[in-house]
Amino acid sequence: MRQSYYHWLPDQQALMLEQTIALAEINSGTFNVTGVNAVADRLAELAAGLNAVVQRIDLPHYRQLTDRAEWQEQPLGQALQLQKHPDAPLQLLLMGHLDTVYGVDHPFQQIRWLDAERLNGPGVTDMKGGLVVALHALTVLEASPLAGKIGWRWLLNPDEEIGSPCSAELIASCAAEADLGLVFEPALADGSLAGARKGSGNFSVRVTGRAAHAGREHHLGRNAIRALCDFISALDNLNGQRKGVTINPGYIHGGGAVNVVPDRAMARFNIRIEQPEDELWCLQQLEQLQQRIFRQEGIQIELDGDFGRKPKPFGPHLRLFERLRQIGQRLGTKLNWLPSGGCCDGNNLAAAGVANIDTLGVCGGSIHSSDEFLLVGSLSERARLTAALLFELAQDDPAQWRRKRR
Ligand SMILES: [Zn+2]
Repeated sequence: MRQSYYHWLPDQQALMLEQTIALAEINSGTFNVTGVNAVADRLAELAAGLNAVVQRIDLPHYRQLTDRAEWQEQPLGQALQLQKHPDAPLQLLLMGHLDTVYGVDHPFQQIRWLDAERLNGPGVTDMKGGLVVALHALTVLEASPLAGKIGWRWLLNPDEEIGSPCSAELIASCAAEADLGLVFEPALADGSLAGARKGSGNFSVRVTGRAAHAGREHHLGRNAIRALCDFISALDNLNGQRKGVTINPGYIHGGGAVNVVPDRAMARFNIRIEQPEDELWCLQQLEQLQQRIFRQEGIQIELDGDFGRKPKPFGPHLRLFERLRQIGQRLGTKLNWLPSGGCCDGNNLAAAGVANIDTLGVCGGSIHSSDEFLLVGSLSERARLTAALLFELAQDDPAQWRRKRR
């Protein structure tokens, strides 16, 4: 009979709720650098008892095309890393994000109870609650005699909600040293976990034409808005041409005074893919479109972006899921999984060859909207589940899970 040490976790429920609310009360929209760093500060304080090696890591600036079709660099918050037992035979990479989708100017800033079970608030579920789940699971592991049987690194990035563009390299370098990954994104309201995930790419396009007076020299102008509209129409027409691929033009801006032929326009779009091979197909299509629009005299079109997140096929992760399902059965938590069109850092870990479960956080719903809610009972329930998984892994033969690496 394997020993367990996590029976006391349900007693932590009130504390976990208090910590989740405290973290959610700090606005940490991705571009609120002060807020994101404040969440890292608070979390580092809460995790002090783990006695881990704590590191704050600067990331490169985020580069974005502005409305004026100019490149602008924006600073981001720091990543936070806690690490312990780096020499243990099995190394886990736990991941969470410090940011939310709600900027400082977003109307959704308040936390309130919907009923006795459901708490509504910015980031309570995605993923301040998940951070608290990871914290308590690690705490119970480190307080047990099994501490040191497994090593772990807990990486918290500041830019997950914009696709982890600036932390991707850091994630990859941490993943290179990990055997297994645990990501604390929220599960669905019914407790289901995400299985296979689509891949995702973010792109921007800039069109440069030629300005001219709309009345006197209209014929000399080259209208950037028109060229961009042609591009976007053709782009949108790619929808439905390949199974599993969807393209979403999501933002457009251009022009100014209507008596001037506009010489600049910009747009951003997102592409979701199902299979690794879809990536090449998409890039070829984009290239062809660009060539076609480019052929117009006086029009320049520049494309930027990539598939920052590769699809996450389910196969390589199944064994870890099955183990978690068995643990759930013993604890009375029924677990299943569903494919998801969404992406997260679990995609990045999968791309690095690390088997992972990426929805170990709390249960809740309506995330990324003002209706986001947390099922508060899931805080201690999911912490117990992760703690149980950590205990099992600590008692397993490490060779069972070790990944050939380095
Ligand atoms: Zn999230």
